[in-house]
Amino acid sequence: MPILVQKFGGSSMADVACIQNVARRVAASKKDSPQGLVVVVSAMGKTTDKLVGMAREIASQPHGREMDMLLATGEQVSIALLCMALHELGLKAVSMTGAQAGIITENRHNKAKIINIDTEAIQKHLAEDCIVVVAGFQGVTPDQQITTLGRGGSDTTAVALAGALDAAVCEIYTDVDGVYTTDPNVVPEAHKLAEISYEEMLELAHLGAKVLHPRSVECAKKYGTMVHVRSSFNTNEGTYVKPMKDLEIHRPVTGVTADAKQAKVAIRHVPDRPGVAAQLFGALAEKAISVDMIIQSVQENLTNDIAFTVHEDDLTQAIAITQQVAEKLGARDVVYDQDVAKVSIVGVGMIGTPGIAAEMFEALSHARINIQMISTSEIKISCVVARSEVKQAMQVIHNHFVLPEGSAAENEELALL
Ligand code: ADP
Ligand code: ASP
Ligand code: MG
Repeated sequence: MPILVQKFGGSSMADVACIQNVARRVAASKKDSPQGLVVVVSAMGKTTDKLVGMAREIASQPHGREMDMLLATGEQVSIALLCMALHELGLKAVSMTGAQAGIITENRHNKAKIINIDTEAIQKHLAEDCIVVVAGFQGVTPDQQITTLGRGGSDTTAVALAGALDAAVCEIYTDVDGVYTTDPNVVPEAHKLAEISYEEMLELAHLGAKVLHPRSVECAKKYGTMVHVRSSFNTNEGTYVKPMKDLEIHRPVTGVTADAKQAKVAIRHVPDRPGVAAQLFGALAEKAISVDMIIQSVQENLTNDIAFTVHEDDLTQAIAITQQVAEKLGARDVVYDQDVAKVSIVGVGMIGTPGIAAEMFEALSHARINIQMISTSEIKISCVVARSEVKQAMQVIHNHFVLPEGSAAENEELALL
């Protein structure tokens, strides 16, 4: 039996009773994992949000290094408490910070990527039959600076450890039963997927489905690690994220997701000449602001309007940069809108199925939801809509494409197999 890696998220570790529940589940798994059990945990409940809130009360733009120093404390509380709960059950367990577990990251604060994992210290404890409890979301640079991996990053710690330890499966325990066709807390008709391909999960995660951190799916794909997303509060089978052949996928749309943390910036009446876009987006790239969708309007009086979206956290900086560029270029003005969100559909089955985009636009039009921007790739279509309409947009698009489990159409599909 290979090593097993399990990860319990903040909602599973919300209070002492939850931590004791996690300890009991870990104890049960220990019996089936004689080669070793590694458990990754997140900070308790909304701890990270509270820490971010305190930092922002003190400083509008806290220093990245100090932010990481602060946020890493949340997971440190969790590892110690879970180990104590495991000791109470008579099990051998040891807590390890990211640094102690050998998780080395690049030298970048708040969103560092893991560059290497030295598993020697973990292996030593496993050899002594200890359950190793690792703090998720954190690592250390080669020169000993504490870093964090970006919000939701404990998933990535777990999957990266599973890859490095050659674990057969990485179990992600959370507050839902698995990966659903859309967020079940927003659309009650959503249903659980038995399995999903890495490619589709990666798109869903990047487009806002927070059930898995995008980097964790990238890691899983890279190392071929099977991820099992399941609930901490029941023993139901969850969703397997794994390689799947296109032939195994019989649906044009696998999931619907949304990202409400978007903002739109527009620069108006920019002279229409070569180099304008390069100047604007070059200046944004220089400050590491990632731009998502871009629209350039048709020329009018030798000028264009260019609109683009950024993450709302980058909005203040994006406006300042765009204003500087606008002045240099002689553009008329810069406007912005924070009341926007992006709603997306994802599905490998879209390839070779014409008309999916038109159906999505039709569903939105039926609900009288205005589309402000559109972008497409082979397996996804995204639309920017007003933030106040995003939940309704998810609902109507979901109910158009993804029928409830066991519905007539889905049964028909099964009969064709
Ligand atoms: P954890 O604290 O365990 O890391 P998260 O809050 O990060 O949990 O992720 C779980 C949440 O992801 C769910 O409660 C759900 O609201 C949300 N979610 C969004 N999209 C989906 C989806 N397609 N399937 C399941 N959950 C989803
Ligand atoms: N505690 C961190 C967060 O809230 C990491 C995680 O939960 O995955 O973002
Ligand atoms: Mg999470």
